[in-house]
Amino acid sequence: MVKGEGEEIVPSLLFAAADDRKSLHTLPGVVTLNGEGPSPDLIHDLDRIAPARDLLPKRRKYFIGSLDPSASVEFTRGCPWDCNFCGAWVFYGRSYRKRNPRAIAEELMCLKEPNVFVVDDVAFIDPDHGFEVGREVEKRGIKKQFYLETRSDVLLRNKELFRYWKRLGLAYLFVGIEAIDDEGLKLFRKRVSIGRSFEALEFARSLDLVVATNIIADSDWDEKRFRAVREWALSVPEVVNVSINTPHPGTETFSSHAQPLATRDYRLFDIQHAVLPTKMDLKHFYEELVKTQQILSMKHLGFGMLRQTAGLTARLLLKGQTDFVRMLFKFNSVFNPERLCMDHQRPVKYELRLPEKETDEKKIDPKTFFLRQTDPASERAGSDLSA
Ligand code: SF4
Repeated sequence: MVKGEGEEIVPSLLFAAADDRKSLHTLPGVVTLNGEGPSPDLIHDLDRIAPARDLLPKRRKYFIGSLDPSASVEFTRGCPWDCNFCGAWVFYGRSYRKRNPRAIAEELMCLKEPNVFVVDDVAFIDPDHGFEVGREVEKRGIKKQFYLETRSDVLLRNKELFRYWKRLGLAYLFVGIEAIDDEGLKLFRKRVSIGRSFEALEFARSLDLVVATNIIADSDWDEKRFRAVREWALSVPEVVNVSINTPHPGTETFSSHAQPLATRDYRLFDIQHAVLPTKMDLKHFYEELVKTQQILSMKHLGFGMLRQTAGLTARLLLKGQTDFVRMLFKFNSVFNPERLCMDHQRPVKYELRLPEKETDEKKIDPKTFFLRQTDPASERAGSDLSA
């Protein structure tokens, strides 16, 4: 196993593996049956690790929504916030690293794909960097469609920047809302109010983009709660996805034992299964969930939408891009309450190990919690940004 970022250590790992497998565990972040190497360090220069896309024979298979095919490009890495359900800040120690804007534009120039999924944890935390990248894109006359993910407060703070990127080709925007009331936002430590979240959606709407968001269904949701979410989601034009609150290993919610687990079956930690005890009986919970997902998916993928997307669908099929079209018809085979319940009955092949004893006190010390220790400067930057 390699803990931490893989890109830098993999070449050393391969050389070491060819040479002497017994000493692999002396490498930073590497864990083998023989032991564990020193703590992994963060990659200092992200521009040194450009992906070898030429090694991918099936590049046309990658897509996101109707952006088919789509390449993935990274502008920045890391997030200074600390939502308790999320592993990004733990993984990167709340650090935030930026790539050179010129290097990003050069990489975009080389892409065959007409669409680009910007994989940043939160796009445009630093607006100056966002503008610099934009200017380099503009200078080179790069014409692509972009997909970005960001937070409501970042979007509201940088309206001009998002308008600029709309002119450059921003086509899809994901805004992480997570909950539709202040109580839920507090539960996930989102550090943004519901008023600001709704204001952000309204602004995103004004950009005339495809806007998507996600709501986290908590295990204590009852019928009334699901109904309220359905009603809200149907009242807004955005694409709304509902996933299940899942304490993933490595996140604060998992390590703090905040809630007891109903199962430790590794396969069920996929945000589509309830791994925490549900208030309603499990079958009923899944029925409500699937009903909600079905209604929301029909809102966007129903006949009205199919009519609207007919032109796009035909164009993609003519180009041999079938993934988006296949996705439109897959819903019922994937989301099914009986199948979800049956998944809980399967013999467990691998059970997640519970967190170590020292975290039993339901309190996390961030200094020891990060996979890699942060330097005080980046920690300060994090608290400034999330204040
Ligand atoms: S803002 Fe997004 S990436 Fe950052 S901690 Fe919260 S959920 Fe994770």
